[in-house]
Order: sequence, then structure tokens, then C-alpha cells
Amino acid sequence: MTKRLLLKNLRLMGDTSADIAIESGRFLQIAPSIAPQPDDIIEDCEGALALSGLIDGHTHLDKTLWGMDWHPHAQGKSLQQMIDTERALRHELDMDAKRQSARQVALSLSQGTTAIRSHVDIDTDHGLRLFEGVAETRAHYADVMQIEIVAFPQSGMMIREGTTELMDQALSDGADIVGGLDPCGIDRDPKGQLDAVFGLAEKHGKPVDIHLHEPGEMGAFSLDLILDRTEALAMQGKITVSHAFCLGMQDHARVSDLLDRIAALDVSLATTAPASRPVPSVAACRERGIPICAGNDGIRDTWTPYGNADMLERAMLVGLRNNFRADVEVTWALDTCTVDAARIMGLKDYGLEVGNRADLVLVDVGALSEAVTLRPARRLVISAGQIVARNGQTVSKWQAA
Ligand SMILES: [Zn+2]
Repeated sequence: MTKRLLLKNLRLMGDTSADIAIESGRFLQIAPSIAPQPDDIIEDCEGALALSGLIDGHTHLDKTLWGMDWHPHAQGKSLQQMIDTERALRHELDMDAKRQSARQVALSLSQGTTAIRSHVDIDTDHGLRLFEGVAETRAHYADVMQIEIVAFPQSGMMIREGTTELMDQALSDGADIVGGLDPCGIDRDPKGQLDAVFGLAEKHGKPVDIHLHEPGEMGAFSLDLILDRTEALAMQGKITVSHAFCLGMQDHARVSDLLDRIAALDVSLATTAPASRPVPSVAACRERGIPICAGNDGIRDTWTPYGNADMLERAMLVGLRNNFRADVEVTWALDTCTVDAARIMGLKDYGLEVGNRADLVLVDVGALSEAVTLRPARRLVISAGQIVARNGQTVSKWQAA
């Protein structure tokens, strides 16, 4: 049996002073003061603020160039050109999905992230190679990082014959979620793609997470088709729409109707809060009880030079994009990287409560909103009861090559 880990003198989510005892990967006791036992491993937290483990609800572990030489980015490419460029560069740069995904996971651990939903490209060029690489990383980090894999048709389904069959195979081989992508904008066949996506979901009994970048009325049209299928197949609670830029459009009556329908069908949203695009309003989602999580999306990949895997930074970007200034609003931004993301990923034993999985991040700040705005180095990160990072550095056992 592992020794009990006793955290002394911390503050729970900003308020109450407490000690926490952790055993067998779970929170065993949380109380104002817990007496040490002879075999305890004791950490004096010196009044640090404890947050729940952070969650990256939308990223791409197979895409990152983290740890590789700096890749110069060109400007002004279309979405289709970026997709084609990435496929070619994967070969040219000798990208290894297992190595690169492990690097991002280790980086995420160092920043306090303990759960990730990753989309992974499935296409007729790479077959299942990228999925298999990320699945190896998932297995290696299974004790300390909960990873969901979305079988993601980045290059399209209808326009690349054979992709649906590969996704089918990936779902049989352990992918958790069926992906999709701009059914009008990329495939130009919304009925074809969505029938295929929902067909796979029905066949495998798995949820759906669709990238929907399509703007304005085109995106709203695709979104309605997604909601129609959600209703027809009784898939309430199993659908996530990522990005959903159309929900940031100016037609407020149309957006309000769509949000009401999304709430009624218990559909979730994921946002990266980009500065350059209209986005769904987090406050409007909260008003309706729509779960909305945040994600880093690609981290320093062939698409973007930005990103460092830090979900506190992502929470800050959510706050800025939504013009959140009041402390309570800033904590809503943090919720997109904690409780709301946990709800979307179905992490039932999440949060700083006795009996739950012991995922926790310590930061030396006074308040939750300060953690978001300052993004301090993580003093200590614990995942499933193990210390995985200290002072912003992943411990040696969990570092990546
Ligand atoms: Zn994405």
C-alpha cells in the first residue's frame, strides 16, 4: 500500500484553509487540520491556493512541434491550403506522433492539466499511424493523464474516399469519440458527412465532437443539421460542437434560438476563445445551462506559432474574449477549464472533495481570479494522488524524450 500524502496549510479554491490527506489516488480527508501519522509524506503548502486539476477540452496532441526546431510560419493561407500543407510537412519534418504527443502531455502536466480531450487526424495519407502514436502516449501516461481521443477527419470525409472506413477502424481500436469537420465548408456535402459521422456514433455507441468553423448563416445551417440528428437519434448529452463561430454572429435572435435548442438537447460547446473570430458567449451559455469548455487547440504546430499548453492562460484568454472583469466572471472563465470541461468529458469523480480522484494544482496567489490573470508557475501538481510536477517542472518519471 502506498504511503499517505498529507498536504498541510493550503486554501481550497481560494477560501477555506485546510489540510488534505491523499491515499490510493483519492482524496481521503479534507479538514481544517489533519494530524500527521508516522508514515505520512508531508508537504507544507505555506498557504498556497489549491485548484482542481485543469482540463484541456480541445487540443491536437498529434500536431504539436513542441521540442522541435522552430518552424517558420507563412501568412495568408486558406483553410484548405493549411490542411494540405500540414499533411505534407508531417513527412518533411519527420514528425512522430508518439514522441510529439508525449512532449505535449508532459508539458501539460507541468502546467497542472490532468485531463485532455485530443482530436487526432485520421486521413487516407497517414491511415491510423497518428492515432496509434497518440494511443501509445495515452497508455504510457494512463496513471496520471486522462486522455480522450477523437477520431478526427481533418482532411475531410466525403472528399477523401476511405476516411470513413479508417475512422470506423480507429473507433474499434480504442478511439473514444467520433469527430467531424465543417460539413459544408470542407466536404461541401453536409448531409453526406453528418450521416456518416452520426452513423459511426450509432454503430459504436460513442459520442460526437465536431469542429464547426463555418461562420454566420452557413455555420448556423450546419449546426441545425447537427441538432436535427441529435434529436432524431436521441443523442442528448453526447454531442459537442467545437468552435461554433456561427454562435458569435451578429444576428442575435438567430443565435438566441440556436442556443435555446442547444440547451434543450443538452449539447455541449468547446471554445478556444480566439481573438480573431466571433465566438459563443460564455455568459449566454451559462444562463441556459449549456456546458462550455475551453481548449488550447493546436499548440505550436504547422497552423500556429502560438500556444504553451497552459490552461490558466487559456482561461485568461476566455476572460479577455468575453470581456470578463468582475472576479465572479473571471472564475466563470476558470470553470471552462475545470468543472464545465469535467462535465463534458464525463469525469464523475472530479473536484476537491473526499472520495474523488486526487487531481490538484497549487499556486502561490491570493484568489482564483488572480490565478487566471497572473498565470503563476505551478508550485505543485498532483494527479491521481501522485506528485507529477513541482515548480513548473514535470518530475523526471513523467518527462518526455
Ligand atoms: Zn481543433
